[in-house]
This record gives sequence, C-alpha cells and structure tokens, in this order.
Amino acid sequence: MKAPIYEIFSSIQGEGLLIGKRQIFVRFTGCNLDCNYCDSEKSRFVENGYLLTVDEVIKKIKDLYSDDLDSISFTGGEPTIYFDFINEVSSKIDYKIMIETNGTLPENIDKLNKIDYVSLDIKLPEHFNDSSFEDIFRNEIKSLNLLMSRSINVYCKLVVLPSTKINSFETIIKRLSKDVLNNKELQIIIQPSSPINDWKNLNSHLFRFSEIVGKYFEVSIIPQVHKFLNIE
Ligand code: SF4
Repeated sequence: MKAPIYEIFSSIQGEGLLIGKRQIFVRFTGCNLDCNYCDSEKSRFVENGYLLTVDEVIKKIKDLYSDDLDSISFTGGEPTIYFDFINEVSSKIDYKIMIETNGTLPENIDKLNKIDYVSLDIKLPEHFNDSSFEDIFRNEIKSLNLLMSRSINVYCKLVVLPSTKINSFETIIKRLSKDVLNNKELQIIIQPSSPINDWKNLNSHLFRFSEIVGKYFEVSIIPQVHKFLNIE
C-alpha cells in the first residue's frame, strides 16, 4: 500500500492543546476542501506528494525518534483520506497517534482504528468562496459526535481572521452548542490567523470571540506558536 506524502519531520506541535509537545509529523498531500485562508498550498494538492509505502514511512519515523517524543501526528492536506494507510502504519508502531483533520469525512474518521488525540477544525462560512459551508458543518458535527462517543480525546480548532464578524461567529458557536452531544466536555481553541501582527489593536475582538465560546465550551486562544520560533 502506498500514499502520497509531502514530508515527514520531527518538530514541536505549534497549535492547539498539545502545543510544545515533540512530535513526528507525517504530512500527506491532497485535500477535499478549498479554504480561502489555506496556508498549506504544498500539501493541498495530491500531485505534490511522493508515493511512499507503509514500511518506508515506518522506517523514517524510527529514524526520527527522539526521547522526548510525545506522538506521531498525521496531518495534511487531509489525512483521513488515507485512513487505511494510517491504520496500517499505526498497527505496526507503538507510539501515540494524533490526527489533524478538517473533520469533513466522518465515514473515514470512523474507520480509523487507533487514535489518541484528534484536532478537528470547525470552519466558518467566510472560509469558503462558494455555498459548500452547510454540508461541511454537518459533517464536522457528525465526526465530532462520533469521536466523542468513542471517548477519544478530541478538541476543536477554530481559525478566526481579522475580518471575522462577531455575529456570524456567534451563530456558528450557538449551532455547535446545540448539535454537539456532551458539549460541556468539548474544548475549543480559537486560533487567530497568522501573521499575528494582523491582530495589532484587535485584542478586544479576540476577547469577544473567547467570551462567546466560553458560554458553552471550555475555551483558549492559542496562536500558531511554531511561527514565533521560526520552525516548521
Ligand atoms: S482543510 Fe486545511 S489543507 Fe484543506 S484547504 Fe482547508 S486549510 Fe487547506
């Protein structure tokens, strides 16, 4: 079995609840979405990947191992497109597994056998230039409920832009609070878009987003820390 992979590297997790943890990242190419803020141009398109076998990926992971390793992060692009490949790799290694997903392929997510952490994006309508948002949102909710019903450690990441409107943000959070089962247990990370300089003088905006989420969920504001350190 082979899958298209852009890169495999060791670094620290720069986003979300595992921030600062050492991970080995396996970055697949190919994505089923077309977000207008995407900063993963290289991994978004399947043709940018090298076809690697399961054994080649495992060898590279073992070569990159370090004593501070927390977990292996399968990312992209959209990693769950390659759920069978991930299952094969994770069945042959004894490390914790994280999946960084857009959450829009619940049938694939359901087929992942071994998962320790999931970072699941919740997209906003403004992230798309077409009318695809409703389907995307429905699938994200489906994936979220599915993962929570399996007691998997999942958190949501919500990227906000300086142009994000408070009202439309609040509408999505209210819908989320109604549709997510066990919503009290869900943690939401508000991630201000990079570069962080764009947020100069917009702190009150960020606090407002946090207050809205805080009505229903656990919330944190965490920017992309690896960009401050100038690492991948
Ligand atoms: S889901 Fe992620 S990789 Fe895919 S287009 Fe959106 S931001 Fe880019």
